[in-house]
Amino acid sequence: MIQFTFLGTCAADFSPRLTGDCKNRFDRDARRASCALINGRYLLDCGPHCPDSLRIAGIDPGGITDIILTHLHDDHFNVKSVEYVASRHPVRLYVRADAVLPHMENVTVVRMNCYEKYALDENVFVTGLPANHDARSCPQHLLIEVEGKKIFYGMDGGWLLNGTYAALWHKNLDLCVLDGTCGDYTGDFRMGEHNSIPMIRLMLPSFRTVGIIDSHTLVYISHLAPSLHKPHEETVRICEKDGIRTAFDGLTLSL
Ligand SMILES: [Zn+2]
Ligand SMILES: [Zn+2]
Repeated sequence: MIQFTFLGTCAADFSPRLTGDCKNRFDRDARRASCALINGRYLLDCGPHCPDSLRIAGIDPGGITDIILTHLHDDHFNVKSVEYVASRHPVRLYVRADAVLPHMENVTVVRMNCYEKYALDENVFVTGLPANHDARSCPQHLLIEVEGKKIFYGMDGGWLLNGTYAALWHKNLDLCVLDGTCGDYTGDFRMGEHNSIPMIRLMLPSFRTVGIIDSHTLVYISHLAPSLHKPHEETVRICEKDGIRTAFDGLTLSL
């Protein structure tokens, strides 16, 4: 059984409530920086709120062995947070090959070439796939295979680039997490680097056509911008009729 925990599901427009009444708890309308954890060991992104999210979720950072970065934007990569996770034992930090990183104590950097599969453990593999996002941030979507389960984590990026789409054909993902930065409206300048709900509605039928997802796949949106979405419960209702689930901070899935 795979445990997948959303530790943060926000885009970069963080709520001021995070330093107020939400300081010590998760709130579905005051999301923390985008971040997720698999089986308590494999951390996807490590932004400014990661230490708080781990504390609130009751997760021991000492259990984390590997951090895999989707890209270098501030809401996904924070040096202090990485050093916090690595403070008790060495960690490996996976990043796209051309990323320029500062020195970090206790951290071994593993540089990833797109489409190449890296073994994190005997039964855990990660592949970086090209992402349609700010090129200066060295973006990559992640295909993670854990004990035979397949997870796509597409933070951040709008649509799918051709090579990534082709690489996902017939994968029949168990979990597909898509960038859901923008809400249920059309006409937004972010289309070239983030998704909206109408864009995801268009993509999913094609994903089904080529076996990227099927009837068993859990499809989630994460990286939601509160300023571009309705409140969480309303977003859940808007999305569920199209088979799209809305992630929230602290949600753990068993796959
Ligand atoms: Zn972001
Ligand atoms: Zn970004």
